[in-house]
Amino acid sequence: MKKWLLIPILSVLVLLTGCQKTASKPQIMTTFEPMYEFTKAVVGDKVDVAMIIPANQEVHDYEPSAKQVAQMTDASAIVYNSNDLEKWVPSVKTSATKIEAASAVDQIAGDPHTWISPKQAIKEVKYIQEELSKKFPEYKTDFAKNAEAYLIKLEALDAQFDTLKNAKQKTFITQHEAFSYLARDYDLKEIAVTGIDPDVEPSASALANLKKEMEKAGLKSVYVEENANSKIADTLAKSAGADTLLINTVESLSDAQRKAGDNYISLMQENLKSLQKTIK
Ligand SMILES: [Zn+2]
Repeated sequence: MKKWLLIPILSVLVLLTGCQKTASKPQIMTTFEPMYEFTKAVVGDKVDVAMIIPANQEVHDYEPSAKQVAQMTDASAIVYNSNDLEKWVPSVKTSATKIEAASAVDQIAGDPHTWISPKQAIKEVKYIQEELSKKFPEYKTDFAKNAEAYLIKLEALDAQFDTLKNAKQKTFITQHEAFSYLARDYDLKEIAVTGIDPDVEPSASALANLKKEMEKAGLKSVYVEENANSKIADTLAKSAGADTLLINTVESLSDAQRKAGDNYISLMQENLKSLQKTIK
């Protein structure tokens, strides 16, 4: 190589390594929407927070890319919901602190949908705050202040959901069994078209039974999800002469929802309004 070429190449290399050294704000990797929002609410701008599962992607069968695994290896902490949902987190080899938010929750065996109950979301935010304060003791006071402000909003949301307890008609039918915590905590009864994992489809006889259950409970609406395939729930609604209403598991946000500034709290408020149409 000619000597005159070597000098610019070397200076580019020096610049590149220099850049890498200065961009070293610690990073927390979070798995999906609620984990990202809860973590961001606690840390504010003190630490970088990234989300692994992109918009419009289903959390149940997601597998991280090699690049994302590398990011998790380099991260300071990984915040995820539970070993039953993001099943790949325990096997990531990293020195990052792994924070399993649902470990703070009174869990229903095998059901990871803890965040859909505001009562459990409150516990998860407190746990994330405690664990991240151990990891970043220098920001303990900031994290406590940030969490307090967010918890006030979650407690208001919880109080709004508590009003459902006064309803006479408490049964609702959903596309996938994601609302067991909500049902348990607010004294409701959920019937689900597909199981905890939405990819496991019901048999024809199971669908016939669901139709009977709907008739018995006098249900005229099936709750379907905006961001997932609702084909089976739609078919059931049609055969039972029922309509469909939207409900959101907050497992991911669509691009449109993100652009509109939607978040866990706004989507849960929409869920409440939707539930109040049949639970009354
Ligand atoms: Zn789910």
